[in-house]
Amino acid sequence: MERKQEIAIGIALQTHVLKICPVHHQLYLDDEINPAGAFALAISLVRQHKPCVKAFGNDAHALTDLLSDTLGIAPGCCPECESSFQSPPIRDGSRVAESALERH
Ligand SMILES: [Zn+2]
Repeated sequence: MERKQEIAIGIALQTHVLKICPVHHQLYLDDEINPAGAFALAISLVRQHKPCVKAFGNDAHALTDLLSDTLGIAPGCCPECESSFQSPPIRDGSRVAESALERH
C-alpha cells in the first residue's frame, strides 16, 4: 500500500470513520460516524507540520482529497462478514460487534 494512503487510512481509523473488522481484519466505513472529524484532523495535522503527515508537505488539500477517495472506496461493512452473514457474529465486547447485533 502506498505510504500516503496509509496516512489517510490512519487518520480515518483514528477518528473511527474507518473500522477494521476484528475477525477478518478488513477495512470498512462506519456510516454512523461523521467523516468531517477525519477531514478536520487531516487539515490540522498538516497545519501543525506533524511528522506523520510529512509526505504531504503543506498540501492539506492533497491529504483531504486522498482521504475522500479512501472513504469513497471503503465498503459499508466488512465484506467477509457480509458474505458469511449466516454465521453468528463473534462477540468480543467491541462497539462494532454490538452495533452489528443491534442492526440484525
Ligand atoms: Zn468481518
